[in-house]
Amino acid sequence: MKYIDEFRDGEIAQKIAARLAAEADPARRYSFMEFCGGHTHAISRYGVMELLPANVRMIHGPGCPVCVLPIGRIDLAIRLALAQDAIVCTYGDTMRVPASDGLSLIRAKARGGDIRMVYSAADALQIARQNPAREVVFFAIGFETTTPPTALAIRTAAAEGLQNFSVLCCHVLTPAAITHILESPEVKQYGTVPIDGFVGPAHVSIVIGSGPYEGFAASYRKPVVIAGFEPLDVMQAVLMLVRQVNDGRAEVENEFTRAVSRTGNLTAQALVEQVFAPRASFEWRGLGEVPASALQIRPAFARHDAEARFGLQYAPVPDNKACECGAILRGVKRPTDCKIFGTVCTPENPMGSCMVSSEGACAAHYSYGRFRDIPIRVEAVA
Ligand code: SF4
Repeated sequence: MKYIDEFRDGEIAQKIAARLAAEADPARRYSFMEFCGGHTHAISRYGVMELLPANVRMIHGPGCPVCVLPIGRIDLAIRLALAQDAIVCTYGDTMRVPASDGLSLIRAKARGGDIRMVYSAADALQIARQNPAREVVFFAIGFETTTPPTALAIRTAAAEGLQNFSVLCCHVLTPAAITHILESPEVKQYGTVPIDGFVGPAHVSIVIGSGPYEGFAASYRKPVVIAGFEPLDVMQAVLMLVRQVNDGRAEVENEFTRAVSRTGNLTAQALVEQVFAPRASFEWRGLGEVPASALQIRPAFARHDAEARFGLQYAPVPDNKACECGAILRGVKRPTDCKIFGTVCTPENPMGSCMVSSEGACAAHYSYGRFRDIPIRVEAVA
């Protein structure tokens, strides 16, 4: 299959591994964060860690949309279904993320809430057309990849005068989160791991391009290599990062040239800009409040903004005390550091968000279990 099989070729993987072994300086350690859950999944599924030199370590980042969704946001969606009698539509993984009071969207559905799994924002729009007497809310989550379809659904609803369709917008932004990981005092107070560079997101970068990472790479002196989601993409990106570190460079490089350009998808960006504006701040699970890291619906489309329409007030809710998702999303701990990993908490019965989606670090580790047992080197930050 074109563009898939050739990026899973074992012989080429061995050749890249040999180059990495030759070029990684044995006198130093390299720590790279793969921001995106898609990369975490690929690293686990294809055993990429087994092919990296012992002094090259991958740190899982917070780029799994389900994992970073805070409990308080899921509570809002549940309240819409149970207290407002709205039809709440959302993506499948979101249904199983634990919320307050032992609930999740799927458990709220069992209690009688009209909560429906959809594959796209367009599906939710169609449900609104078919149920004119009911309020239909699309619980929209995800990074820049899923934002344009939500924007299109809102714009279409406005154009059609579809009065019963609204969106609970929880779309978040990648560059702000990467910056936050490096500089936020809230993150630093937990301790953080030294990061020598980032494997940049694949699908997100198709939309936003490679340009938005340039200021970040220059300001923080951290190399970024945007990579596709196949195992050879990831290995090649790691090799490119090792070379940048060895050369003392901090540039944005693009390994995923078959899909990512510097400017990205300008049509999608214009659509998003028309419908959404940045929020002043947004809570991420594991990162806390992150300034300018999420989107809200512009006043021109307030009719389709569930927060405005239902007068929703967000209230933060602490995570389950036993769950280490916050530390895992900050790269400070590994899934196996959690006392209930694989026992009480499994993909069938997730206690935290990182065990829900296949992109979550705990779920990936549970399913494939191929991470090498490398201790995490946590550095206190003054
Ligand atoms: S194993 Fe479960 S409870 Fe533990 S950190 Fe992962 S998701 Fe949270």
